[in-house]
Amino acid sequence: MDLLLRGGVLCDPLSNREGQVEILIRNGLVKAIGPSLGTVDVPMLELDGKLVLPGLIDLHVHLREPGGEKKETILTGCAAAVAGGFTAVACMPNTSPPVDSKETVAYIKERASRADLARVYPIGALTKGLEGQELSAMTVLAAEGVRGFSDDGRPVSCSALMLRALKYAHILGLPVLSHCEDLSLAAGGVVHSGVTGHRLGLPVISAASEAVAVIRDLLLQHEGGGSLHLAHLSSRLSVSLLQWAKEAGINCTAEVTPHHLLLTETAIDGFNTDTKMNPPLRDDADRTALRGAVQSGLIDVIATDHAPHHKTEKERGYLSAPFGVSGLETAFPLLFSRLVETKAVTLSRLVTCLSVAPARILGVPGGTLAPGSIADLVVIDPAAKRRVDKEKFYSLGKNTPFDGWQMGGLPILTLVGGDIKMCRGEVKGISYSFKPAVETMIKEGRI
Ligand SMILES: [Zn+2]
Ligand SMILES: [Zn+2]
Repeated sequence: MDLLLRGGVLCDPLSNREGQVEILIRNGLVKAIGPSLGTVDVPMLELDGKLVLPGLIDLHVHLREPGGEKKETILTGCAAAVAGGFTAVACMPNTSPPVDSKETVAYIKERASRADLARVYPIGALTKGLEGQELSAMTVLAAEGVRGFSDDGRPVSCSALMLRALKYAHILGLPVLSHCEDLSLAAGGVVHSGVTGHRLGLPVISAASEAVAVIRDLLLQHEGGGSLHLAHLSSRLSVSLLQWAKEAGINCTAEVTPHHLLLTETAIDGFNTDTKMNPPLRDDADRTALRGAVQSGLIDVIATDHAPHHKTEKERGYLSAPFGVSGLETAFPLLFSRLVETKAVTLSRLVTCLSVAPARILGVPGGTLAPGSIADLVVIDPAAKRRVDKEKFYSLGKNTPFDGWQMGGLPILTLVGGDIKMCRGEVKGISYSFKPAVETMIKEGRI
């Protein structure tokens, strides 16, 4: 709907705009933005100093559909996205069947369009069946609209194949999103090879198992060109390799997850399987290096690696429970309250990592609210606080290590193409109280 947002405090690093503004939304676009737009003939919302950000874009989620609908569906995943302030997500291809055919890409796009919540950008499989043996039909997948290639969930172990993948993706103008892991080093491990993991007697995954794969991919990029994106870096060793690569002019970007920025391996004490993820939580020096790299700009993106699982799967015990964390509904408020409010990371850097950079890497609209851009935005109440309650997630995945944590800076309004998808925590098409919430908001003229 057409709207005038008044009295909001904008943070739009790409267009270098900050401070109090009015934003006029017409026909799904940002029509005008400025300190004062005068009187206009559209409903007005007074934001009372709340934050207005370009819609968050998560370039690494697992929506599980097709094939894993017990864990998550495209509808529930998109509901979780807009509830968390995300207006777009890129979904990884390790579904069943995997996203290695145009039919599966079309299916995901059709389900996403029916859900009518967040924008969904499918990532295509790098290899046929994600088997790491031969390249997928990358040209066909690109024509069907995938925004990148990955075998996420597992690495492409064969270096020659990875080199060819980088070259082909380069020709297609799409990034390769690499899950960096040397399986021969990581095999059987479930936690970081740190003090806590050893004390608990659990099989470990060393930082080297990631770093060996990181350096290989960087060298392959150097050899073959293309755009290499390193998924979920977890250790200081990987951060130093990234620094070397960027200084050497290697064309790469990298991401880190909220859980690696907020937790350390000590969280595994007590064997809560919601702390089991791949890569594993590492130690305090790793976390410090990752935070520093986010603030310095060395790490480009924060992505949730949203990996919902069914409760019964996570109840299997630490050795056999699946890896992964449900992340879409806690990412922004946890990062805002734990990193921005403590001044470890600026709001502008957080918005860059959660919106500007993912839009650029995927080559999709968004990441800014400059006039003429799509009206994908989120309004944040910086003063609102709530405890994480996993039972209230829209996501079917209740597997979060943050249950009960206090978080602040809650998303209260999410617009995609100017259409209200979430209002005061209620999600369009899902919550019975969505319509009344929107009607009250419009009637009162404030959120
Ligand atoms: Zn991965
Ligand atoms: Zn993943």
